[in-house]
Amino acid sequence: MIARTMRSCRLCLERGHLVPVIDLGHHPLADRFLTADQVREPEVTYPLKLRLCTACGYVGTDYMVPAPARYADPEVAYSYTAGNSAVSRAHFDELAEAIAQRVPASAMAIRGDGRLVVDVGGNDGTLLRAIKDRWPGIAVLNVEPSPAMAELAEQNGIPTHEGFLGGGLFEDASLVVTTNCLNHASDPLDFIHQVHDGLVDGGWFVIEVPSAQHLIADGAWDTIYHEHVSYFTPGALVGVLSAEGFGAIEFSENDYQGGTVRIWARKGIVGIDDNVQTRAHIASSRNTELGWAELAIRAGLARRSLTQQLLEASQDGEPVFAIGAAAKGNTLLNYCRFDDKWIMAIADSSPHKIGKYAPGSHIPIIPESQVPGRARALILPWNIAPFLRDKLAPLRLRYLRYHPQAPT
Ligand SMILES: [Zn+2]
Repeated sequence: MIARTMRSCRLCLERGHLVPVIDLGHHPLADRFLTADQVREPEVTYPLKLRLCTACGYVGTDYMVPAPARYADPEVAYSYTAGNSAVSRAHFDELAEAIAQRVPASAMAIRGDGRLVVDVGGNDGTLLRAIKDRWPGIAVLNVEPSPAMAELAEQNGIPTHEGFLGGGLFEDASLVVTTNCLNHASDPLDFIHQVHDGLVDGGWFVIEVPSAQHLIADGAWDTIYHEHVSYFTPGALVGVLSAEGFGAIEFSENDYQGGTVRIWARKGIVGIDDNVQTRAHIASSRNTELGWAELAIRAGLARRSLTQQLLEASQDGEPVFAIGAAAKGNTLLNYCRFDDKWIMAIADSSPHKIGKYAPGSHIPIIPESQVPGRARALILPWNIAPFLRDKLAPLRLRYLRYHPQAPT
């Protein structure tokens, strides 16, 4: 197998500044739930550790799983759809409104009738649909590697290129937006170059990515998995965009999915406000060797606490059920080395997951209706814990104490 470990920084290309910051052991792909047949087959795992570039603040997986294995594998049921969640629909509607507020109509009319807005990694087209609702005459293009999502977007009336961002895919775009996608890209610098090439002068580039600053501050170590290649702070993004021909850069942060950075940049508009640079620096203050070392300690503490609680349940002769078959749950289960001897089953509501098995741990996924009342339970997607507790309130479950933001 060809080594895919990081030899030089994926953003600034420097070779001498990469330091290892956290090592979570070997993990399979976190969103690849297995069928009964697949559980009996060999399973590939990959080392999950991150490196920090002390020159530019970039953080990425040391070992990168090739993109086709992460997305285009027909056996991978990439089941997240933006349009299915009320929270994400509301978020994309807010983003579309923010774009309408900030980008003047004249900028959107650069190509007359042919003005083009591109969403890279646009999933099922939810955001482009919201943008089209505000500029009905606009041309849109969704670039989406997942065949299932690309088909869904087309069904939603959004023209979609099924595949990755590549040379000459589009030109003279007025605006390129990308949400929760740059962090999945194998080569984020090339991604930025491709967008630069495809924009008109003065065109807008809007990026949303999970915030590494929030990840560290919240102790959300279980959001680290192979599908997430890069972990960005405002400082690293502002730096690379200004170096690659973007200016007029601004950023803001919001709470979406546990902390998200939103960046606004324009091609060829030179110069960055000192105030923006200072704020970006402050908003990246935890992205240091020490910050990541503290996160690694919190992961170890959470593992110890959960192991203790599961042992106590076992001594009492009580099974424990996990709630919510989320990708982040798989990082937690596999880091802690819990399997079906520790946790009887994972309850989930998705028909795409029920009947399958969690990757690595091979814990079976069952419908929520099969969880007995008063059972001990561990919520895996902690970001929606209040919603799940409300939903399952009639079962009167007794929850294990676990939350990355407050490991006990
Ligand atoms: Zn770097």
